[in-house]
Amino acid sequence: MPDVVEICSDLIRFDTTNPGGTERKAAEYVAALLSGMGLEPRVVEAEPGRTNVVARVAGTDPDVSALLIQGHLDTVPADAAAWSRHPLSGDVADGCVWGRGAVDMKNAVAMTLAAVGGALAEGRRPRRDLVLAFLADEETGGKLGAGHLVAEHADLFEGCGAAIGEVGGFNVPVSAAAPLFAVSVADKGLRWYEVVERGVAGHGSMLPDDNPIPRLAETTLRLVSSPQPYTITEPMRVLASRVAGRPVTDPDDVADVLATRTGPFGRMFAAGIRTTVNVTRVGAGYKENVIPGEAWARFDCRFVPGHEDGVDEHLTSGAGDGTEVSLLRRSPSVLSDHESEWFGLLTEALRDVSPGCEVAPFVFSGGTDNKWFRTLGMETYGFTPMLFPPDYDYPAMFHGVDERVPVDSLRFGVRVMERLISL
Ligand SMILES: [Zn+2]
Repeated sequence: MPDVVEICSDLIRFDTTNPGGTERKAAEYVAALLSGMGLEPRVVEAEPGRTNVVARVAGTDPDVSALLIQGHLDTVPADAAAWSRHPLSGDVADGCVWGRGAVDMKNAVAMTLAAVGGALAEGRRPRRDLVLAFLADEETGGKLGAGHLVAEHADLFEGCGAAIGEVGGFNVPVSAAAPLFAVSVADKGLRWYEVVERGVAGHGSMLPDDNPIPRLAETTLRLVSSPQPYTITEPMRVLASRVAGRPVTDPDDVADVLATRTGPFGRMFAAGIRTTVNVTRVGAGYKENVIPGEAWARFDCRFVPGHEDGVDEHLTSGAGDGTEVSLLRRSPSVLSDHESEWFGLLTEALRDVSPGCEVAPFVFSGGTDNKWFRTLGMETYGFTPMLFPPDYDYPAMFHGVDERVPVDSLRFGVRVMERLISL
């Protein structure tokens, strides 16, 4: 059984770029490791090459709920020219494993395999049944991965009361004696829109009748620059209070603490307390001397659980006669209990390895495969436990250049996962 660093490097060397690559070879590698542990992995493909692997580990206590540990095998693309090391190198250098997927999320896949493999090799069976799911297609929404399994193979997850996956379980840089770990209890929901401004096409040399491009620019500015009201949930109040070391309840205070006192996590946490509206694509015209008849922009909007309604209202408010707003895609938000027994188990596992640490819930700014598993009634948490050194900018690693993960953080994660599966 290779160790966590070796597994992480090996996984990075498989090109599972999505779109562009396939997960099959990485999935075969994972299935071989699982078979080597004495497990019977099920390999499931919704489309050729888009491979998922699921295995169940029988626990010693039939009276407790099973735990699903899930992670995706695919990654976003990487532009090798911009990197210091090749994104598929899996190099171990400067105390880190380098490559696309090092934090999102081949690291977590490696930690899970190393923890379960290590325990089984020493004859330690987990207390509860574990379902291990290694998934395809998360980076384009998960239809061929978690979505397919939930729809067509729900029996694989029988008895699972909770699922853990990305993103959470990391330490936030606060100036306290013991680390503060943030565990995600929620994914924000997603609504993608297209806004089209229609005008009158004409010759570029004449006074325009109705050029839609300036109107689109105005609409875009209005939509992205008007501040969205705070939609603060209890988990974020708890997080802000733990960060500040005092009760923080006032919305402005919560926002200030999260934005200014969590180092590089500020941009992510501050997005967890309001709807975000970002323009991500624009288009108009086809020739310099032609005024186009229409111009479009696309918006990526993310809402806090319970606050989906306001998004439509914002996008359509102030729209003129020539403006068309349409919803392109929607993905639900998910919210789990931060005072549940499951959250208690995650806290206990962290405290056993990092005595005296604090653990706080948070609302993740993005979406994960948790949205699929939630449909089977599981509580879902972002938990890929890692303890980072102070100078490490974790949020910048996600989909970033020179993505890498500290070796010591991986080893810490294995210890927490080993502890968790024994609880
Ligand atoms: Zn991910």
